[in-house]
Amino acid sequence: METKHEMKIVICPNDKCKTPIRLSEGRFLGGENDKGGVVIECEVCKTIFPCRLKNPYDISSVIKNGKKLDDWTEDLPDLIANKYNVSKDQLDKLDISLVFGYEPPPKINWEPSDLPLFLNNNINLEKIAKQQLIKYITEIDNNYRAYYHLYVKGRHSAEKSFVIINYEYLGTSYKAVFAKEIDSERDLNTRNLYLIYHSGVNIEYQVDGIYTRDQLLVFLERFLNRWRYTAKEVLLIVPFIGFNYKNTEDALYQLWNWLEINVDISKTKLITRKGTFNLFKNAQDNTGIPFEELVKLGLLEPLIDKMNQKDTEYFQKSHAKYYVGVFDNYVEVLSGSFNIHQGKYFENINYRKYDKTFFKERYLHMFTGFEYSNNVKDEYVHYMTFGINDDDNYLIGLTELLEGFE
Ligand SMILES: [Zn+2]
Repeated sequence: METKHEMKIVICPNDKCKTPIRLSEGRFLGGENDKGGVVIECEVCKTIFPCRLKNPYDISSVIKNGKKLDDWTEDLPDLIANKYNVSKDQLDKLDISLVFGYEPPPKINWEPSDLPLFLNNNINLEKIAKQQLIKYITEIDNNYRAYYHLYVKGRHSAEKSFVIINYEYLGTSYKAVFAKEIDSERDLNTRNLYLIYHSGVNIEYQVDGIYTRDQLLVFLERFLNRWRYTAKEVLLIVPFIGFNYKNTEDALYQLWNWLEINVDISKTKLITRKGTFNLFKNAQDNTGIPFEELVKLGLLEPLIDKMNQKDTEYFQKSHAKYYVGVFDNYVEVLSGSFNIHQGKYFENINYRKYDKTFFKERYLHMFTGFEYSNNVKDEYVHYMTFGINDDDNYLIGLTELLEGFE
């Protein structure tokens, strides 16, 4: 179901602290919205307090400067009040304000596309993979529940989880791989699983041609999430994000937020024009809370924060656009005329794999002194498999898991 999110700021009730804490409140459009709230711990002074928030369990969250310890629906139950030593009176005294009418959902929600990246003989494998995911959903949740006990002990914690489904469809064997981030034990469930790989697909063939910008946003989303879970490094070389037209600020803001939730900031380098970033700042200024205000409050989203700290290269004299996932021995590249824009205009794009040295010589030479990031350790990830050789909960090096995905 479609959701809309709003940014709210609650001030830490400790008078000596008063740190602003950023919340994202989600609502289901045209659906039931639960009343309720969350117990928050201020990250600065560790004060624990209750705060009202709609849909606290599933789509709302504490984004910055605070941590969610617990949640409830309807009225604050005594059990939780006693556990954290908080009271209903505190709820009415809180300084909480709505500062911005649009907020991205905190995590991306994958759905099959009508223009699938994963297509074989006109079979939309994204839709078939979704059916497979639904078929196994009880088992997957059971596995996560079993893994929960290991995870909370802290000895078996991974930040990424993969669900691998081997299945047969019309006589052909396929492998579908879903992935998700595990930020805390609350992520140990089937929500936000993203299809990042599917066998039996010629991606080079599939991503080659002329598409509308809206269609290309779907392709790019697919690759950004694939790279988020599997690549060592991600390079986004894109002169323009959003338009400088009147009344397009909302769209521009949404595009930046879209980017934000589709990348792992820690390994992503965004190279764009200074003017492009300034457009974002202006759009922010026009939407209720000025950019500099967010800077002062320390509430910028991580991608924007990184750009604002000049940790990002600006690139003025280029019109080239390409999107790159860097792996151990090769790079995956989307390139064409496509900037990050919405709309029905047509753009050309193609996908290729390159040798790393060749790609550096031909495509990265204008970034003086560019080196691929080499400090990326092989990390341990969690996975489970279904279909053939069902495995419940295993930890494995990412490199080893990826063997056989290509
Ligand atoms: Zn505080």
